[in-house]
Amino acid sequence: MLDYHVHSEFSVDCKVPMAESCRAAVAAGVTEIAFTDHVDHEPSDIGFGYYRAEEYLRAVDASRRQFDGQLTVLAGAEVDFNTGIARDVERFLADHAGAFDLVIGSVHYARTPTGPVPIFPEYFAGRTLGDVFRPYYAEVLASVETGWFDTIGHLDIPKRYAPASHRDYDPLAFREALAPVFAAMIRTETAFEINTSGLRQTPKASMPGPSIVRWYVDAGGSLITTGTDSHAAQTVGAGLPVTLDMLALCGVEALAAFRGRRRRAVPIADLRPVAAGSATAPVPAGGPA
Ligand SMILES: [Zn+2]
Ligand SMILES: [Zn+2]
Repeated sequence: MLDYHVHSEFSVDCKVPMAESCRAAVAAGVTEIAFTDHVDHEPSDIGFGYYRAEEYLRAVDASRRQFDGQLTVLAGAEVDFNTGIARDVERFLADHAGAFDLVIGSVHYARTPTGPVPIFPEYFAGRTLGDVFRPYYAEVLASVETGWFDTIGHLDIPKRYAPASHRDYDPLAFREALAPVFAAMIRTETAFEINTSGLRQTPKASMPGPSIVRWYVDAGGSLITTGTDSHAAQTVGAGLPVTLDMLALCGVEALAAFRGRRRRAVPIADLRPVAAGSATAPVPAGGPA
């Protein structure tokens, strides 16, 4: 299984050393882990100025040596994007992107007349879901059209932060807003991730869920990554088996895997976890029951 969205102590909101998450990954049956720490250019963000690329890359190298033969450790980044900071993001990627195996582009802020605002519950006050999602998808579309990112993080994340008064989220209402996003993804060969953190948090559904995946497949798309967005070692790998089942039901046959920003397809059939002991369990005489 591929966990391509894991945070470490190089993110402002995470204290977990890489080795701890690597051990958890091996135990969970994850074969490839990507440490995708936050890269924040929004000046009001608590993570602004926190990222230390050189130290991060040294830590990835150390994890690669420590878990050699057990786990593939990838260098990644979750780069926050909105059109207001596009020039800063472009400069960062021009300087650093070659060091990464994959780069996630994520929209966490909404642009408002009074400045950028994180898409947290408070932002929903006085706004309909449409007021939140349509401008959000416009920013996602802009992120895809840059062609700078390998995959787009948590595609319908506003559903995670929608307060109880707004819990009537129906992706169908935003199918039209997603259509140009899918077209741009297919044109620029940008993937999107299935972020399983939603399964264990409020929406109790992955971000995005099956209907959005199905529309993307119907539009001709086939590039999908998987990640848990773990900020704690015990959630590394969580929700990936059920996500592989969901993707297969939606007609997705392979995941997008990355090395040094180069993509290849890995069949989902090859990614399913082997049940503990089944590889070595003796077949009873007369064959399996
Ligand atoms: Zn994120
Ligand atoms: Zn994240």
